[in-house]
Amino acid sequence: MPTSIVRLESVQKTYQTGDNVITALASTDLTLESNQLTLIMGPSGSGKTTLLSIVGCVIYPTLGEVFYNKKNVTKLSEDELSEIRLREIGFVFQQFNLIEPLTALENVMQPLLLQGETAARAKERALTALEAVGLQDRVGNLPKKLSGGQKQRVAIARALVTNPTMILCDEPTASLDAKSAGVIMEELKNLALQGKAVIIVTHDLRLRKYADKIIYVEEGIVSNNISNEEDYK
Ligand code: ADP
Ligand code: MG
Repeated sequence: MPTSIVRLESVQKTYQTGDNVITALASTDLTLESNQLTLIMGPSGSGKTTLLSIVGCVIYPTLGEVFYNKKNVTKLSEDELSEIRLREIGFVFQQFNLIEPLTALENVMQPLLLQGETAARAKERALTALEAVGLQDRVGNLPKKLSGGQKQRVAIARALVTNPTMILCDEPTASLDAKSAGVIMEELKNLALQGKAVIIVTHDLRLRKYADKIIYVEEGIVSNNISNEEDYK
């Protein structure tokens, strides 16, 4: 059953550059749940990454409050926020962000080593995560020896290896061909079925078929609670 993981209450984000104030996100109320694949859609510059960064405890809102598992994270220090990110949230980006001189296995071990896991145990858990995304035959490869789709699957393994409650993806399929994008979306859908909150920013309309819920952002205004009914397909 879906349960609430993140709640935004009257959250707003503005950026000041010189005399200009940009409202990246207008006042927003929003709940994101486990066991669901949520898409955040909207044109370029509409505020999607800003919204995802607030949900992921990467930036503070200018106004309003953010609750992560009922804890008010708006009140936490930078260090406490980074601890939540490391332990509870997995991130996947368009550009994979793999460390080039490290193998797939070593890349996936990194978050566990940061958490203080022993190398032996980190290796064991990383192998399990790579197997979960179907890359057991590629664990010793450097990123440059992997296709775009395989690199993104390594990035997903790295995001899920710490067993986070939530996985946030910013345009995860934007650098991929249609077939690889389909494989990635199936992986992410599976993680939602297994109970994780999977939140994906995209402007690819074709991804709507994977969504349990779609949130539209336009000029910083969030249209909330649109379930993925036939009308929206
Ligand atoms: P999207 O991800 O939908 O393309 P963003 O959330 O990146 O949109 O940006 C929303 C708006 O906020 C844009 O007008 C962008 O220029 C502005 N913006 C984003 N980050 C910053 C920043 N760090 N400083 C100033 N303006 C920013
Ligand atoms: Mg963006």
